[in-house]
Amino acid sequence: MTTNLTDPIFTDETKAREHFEDLRWPQGRVCPHCGTVGNSTLMQGATTRAGLYKCKDCRKPFTATMGTVYEKSHIPLHKWLLATHLLCSSKKGMSAHQLYRMLGFGSYRTAWFMAHRIREAMRPEGGDPMGGGGGPVEVDETFIGRDILNPPAPKAQFGIANMNKVLSLVDRTTGEARSFVVKDLRMATITPIIEANIAREAWLMTDEAVRYTSLGWNFAVHGIVNHSKGEYVSLEDGRITTNSVEGFYSIFKRGMRGIYQHCAGRHLHRYVAEFDFRYTNRIANGVDDTRRAALAVAGTVGKRLTYRQPYGHRSYGLHAARA
Ligand SMILES: [Zn+2]
Repeated sequence: MTTNLTDPIFTDETKAREHFEDLRWPQGRVCPHCGTVGNSTLMQGATTRAGLYKCKDCRKPFTATMGTVYEKSHIPLHKWLLATHLLCSSKKGMSAHQLYRMLGFGSYRTAWFMAHRIREAMRPEGGDPMGGGGGPVEVDETFIGRDILNPPAPKAQFGIANMNKVLSLVDRTTGEARSFVVKDLRMATITPIIEANIAREAWLMTDEAVRYTSLGWNFAVHGIVNHSKGEYVSLEDGRITTNSVEGFYSIFKRGMRGIYQHCAGRHLHRYVAEFDFRYTNRIANGVDDTRRAALAVAGTVGKRLTYRQPYGHRSYGLHAARA
């Protein structure tokens, strides 16, 4: 880990606030009430809280953290920035226990809450279809942990029937990963996800599973590697492989087994978003630790992240939620 933990933004609340203002307003301060750019003034007074601005157009006060998870948080912004940096720069993730120790602040429960909010900020919103312009997109699925909402049939106690299922798409051109927690791997479940996220001109790359066979006709090319015959790169065409998505799963599974072994199924979509985010924004794609943390911090803007949201979230298992 190359995190510079001595950076003042991790220890000084004023420096943290200035850092966040730079990330949020790269083109000048924006009034969140009326949208006016660069026409506001810092409010100063003995009782005025730091970083409060007044819009000269609509006369309303605002801060940089307005509309973000930080706004009503009792946790200092510099601790949020530190937690975000730690979670972004550890390749396989970081347990809430470890985060708590490194933050030197709050409680295990606070660290757990912060980590989930940061994962939510890592979750992308929308995005263009992958493989636009005819690039290769690899698709694969994996099983992880037990699905407590889908108990196994008595005779299938040790089968994969009740394991959590994750479908992942990796665009080999952009290096982006998108993963989805799915209730099952039936064609009716995975087809809408694949059609919504992969351009028709893309080269689809999968293994030989039957679920992908007819799906392949929707794309320019469907390259198939025959894993059951030990084939990982097609002997006929070296471009046909699913090595990228398998590499992604190897990081994901090591992280989930090593650090997040107690992940409840209803939170899995957030862990999956965390691994997608770090994979997409990795060094090999030109994103260093500092930039990756800045992207995660910027991702808090516009997301409705309240304290209540992490509990009782039940989209998992009911439909194919975007992870
Ligand atoms: Zn305004």
